[in-house]
Amino acid sequence: MKKIVIKFPEKCTGCELCVLETQRQLAKVGIEGSLIRIFRDKDNADQITFSIEMDPRINDLNIKSLVKICPAEVFEIESSDKPNNLKESKKTHGN
Ligand code: SF4
Repeated sequence: MKKIVIKFPEKCTGCELCVLETQRQLAKVGIEGSLIRIFRDKDNADQITFSIEMDPRINDLNIKSLVKICPAEVFEIESSDKPNNLKESKKTHGN
């Protein structure tokens, strides 16, 4: 199973394109109840930073398109398949 992960949160520019894409896929208007939320904050040096909150149900959407829409390449798709399990199952089927 594949899932979307926040790989480079520090690159987020707060553009909210990911939020809009999520809502578009759900055919919702506005950002209320979105499965992705962007929070604006300030760091110790008074620089604006953004943090991202994602509901796990986001993985039911077209995550490829969500990764693609982010101009800052914050997201990645990870596969939760474990290659080690595959190796083990091969061993048990050997002659
Ligand atoms: S699309 Fe990317 S840069 Fe824009 S708010 Fe979402 S995560 Fe941040």
